[in-house]
Amino acid sequence: MRDRMGKILIIEDEEKIARFVELELEFEGYEVDKAFDGRSGLELAKTCSFDLVLLDIMLPGLNGIEVLRRIRQFSDVPVILLTARDAVVDKVTGLDTGADDYITKPFAIEELLARIRAALRNKAGGNEMKTPPVLVAGALRLDPMKREVRVNDNLVDLTKREFDLLQYLLENKNIVLDRGTLLERVWGYSFSGGTNAVDVYIRYLRAKIEEPFEVKLIHTVRGVGYVIRDE
Ligand code: CA
Repeated sequence: MRDRMGKILIIEDEEKIARFVELELEFEGYEVDKAFDGRSGLELAKTCSFDLVLLDIMLPGLNGIEVLRRIRQFSDVPVILLTARDAVVDKVTGLDTGADDYITKPFAIEELLARIRAALRNKAGGNEMKTPPVLVAGALRLDPMKREVRVNDNLVDLTKREFDLLQYLLENKNIVLDRGTLLERVWGYSFSGGTNAVDVYIRYLRAKIEEPFEVKLIHTVRGVGYVIRDE
């Protein structure tokens, strides 16, 4: 099976243009669905999942801006508007309504393809930004999204505070953190329990992630604080 390029919805009432673009996109390896009016386009966008929508603004019935407004109520799929030449107001309204880009008709297919690639790339980049990376030190993996900690693939059960402390240590791997900083960042400025809370929780962590697995990850730096390192 070849790599999946993405599935694109074309909403365009000029069927000749829609068919031409469909052929070009399929030639490039995209899957394509099309609708010739706003209402059925919106219906398709609701019922199927697309990686990108090409949306004509001048559509009979429900116009493109209205379709976009309604798509944005349930989806952040990238949308590229197809606009008539010199329709400046449409472009501005379109971008304000949440379009990712627009292209003016008549357009060169190469330009449309480049904009599609850019929109898909931006989308992928945006998702990465939203997903915090899995943090690793030696045999230890912490997944901030799943709030999951594993040592040598064994799931370890941590309390919220233990997890937060471990996450902060991992985010600052190889950097020695003093007790005051750890207290501030993990317990919060208002905590008044004293810095030995840190020592207590480091002990809890070691008992859960180091001792059962005979690994050494959290190191005490005498007179300063703690640091987590790869083994
Ligand atoms: Ca049109």
